[in-house]
Amino acid sequence: MGWTGHSFLAMHEADVVVPAPGFVEHRLSEWFDGIAGTPADTAVYIQDSGLPGGTVFVMGGTHPNEPAASMAAVLLLERAHVTAGRLIVVPFANMMAFNHNSPQEGHPQAFHFALPDGSRRVFRYGSRATNAIYQWPAPDIYIHEPSGQNLAGSESSNLNRAHPGLPDGNLTQRLAYALLEMIRKEKVDLAFDLHEASPEYPVVNAIVAHEKSMELAAMVTMELEAAGIPMRLEPSPTNLRGLTHREWGDNSDVMPILMETGNPSQGRLRGRTDEALVLTGEDKFYAKASELGRLFIPYERDQPIDLRVARHVTAIMSFVEMLGMVKPEAEIAVDGVPSYGEIVERGLGAFLAPLPRS
Ligand SMILES: [Zn+2]
Repeated sequence: MGWTGHSFLAMHEADVVVPAPGFVEHRLSEWFDGIAGTPADTAVYIQDSGLPGGTVFVMGGTHPNEPAASMAAVLLLERAHVTAGRLIVVPFANMMAFNHNSPQEGHPQAFHFALPDGSRRVFRYGSRATNAIYQWPAPDIYIHEPSGQNLAGSESSNLNRAHPGLPDGNLTQRLAYALLEMIRKEKVDLAFDLHEASPEYPVVNAIVAHEKSMELAAMVTMELEAAGIPMRLEPSPTNLRGLTHREWGDNSDVMPILMETGNPSQGRLRGRTDEALVLTGEDKFYAKASELGRLFIPYERDQPIDLRVARHVTAIMSFVEMLGMVKPEAEIAVDGVPSYGEIVERGLGAFLAPLPRS
């Protein structure tokens, strides 16, 4: 019991990040004090070039069992140098879901990256849902506000069914409200919510775009396809409520984008589930499913997190480059971020910053 208790409690220790020079750390509660002092509050990092331009917001960690999403945000946070406009990064959106695992999934509690200097960086593998210690019990039926759409009770702890949020709702709804307040008050032009999904799920290796973002998303999809990065483009359904790509677009001036990569450690067909599966995506059952033509991603024998992060980051950089073409006053320029080929070849660990010695 002592060992298990220690192991559970260790998940309450926040992951350490090393923001690139120029990023200033804020708390999300600065935009909505209804989450101040609660476990829903999370770090918001802003890098302002000081030069006119647009504001781009990148969010990872909506679902902490989708590790390439938060790692793509961490990579941008640790490498980006903004030379026009502003970049806002929230690497761990739902902190209340990072400190536990989903029951009966056998997921590891953490995964590691080796850095060129021999040191290691560790990040938590959490759950899709807000920890029940913060919201208990789940209702039988979750009624999404303000649409009135009925969902399974467990979805009341899913951040990506809580948007646009409620100022006096449960903590997950208040968190969603705070994120939208930040988007509105900071006049964000383009916002990303990063995800991963099972390789057997049709919306994977995909960009999901609101009507407002569709033109830009179509341009980016074509550019990525031309660069040999297959990408599916999906319109945000108008009748599925609570998701960022729908609610951010309907409730603010932002152009929202949701992106998905294929994560075998989350899938239903997987076999042995451990840290290696999280990092390499190598699984013989997925290899067989791919042979049978049952997957929605190109999969030969693996799907490494490096590749999944490279997809997210490369797509974001492509959006950033093209934003000025559809909204000239929102042009933004970012450098310092490694290319798709560099991340795939050298691995994500090569581009993470070593932890400061203290
Ligand atoms: Zn997700």
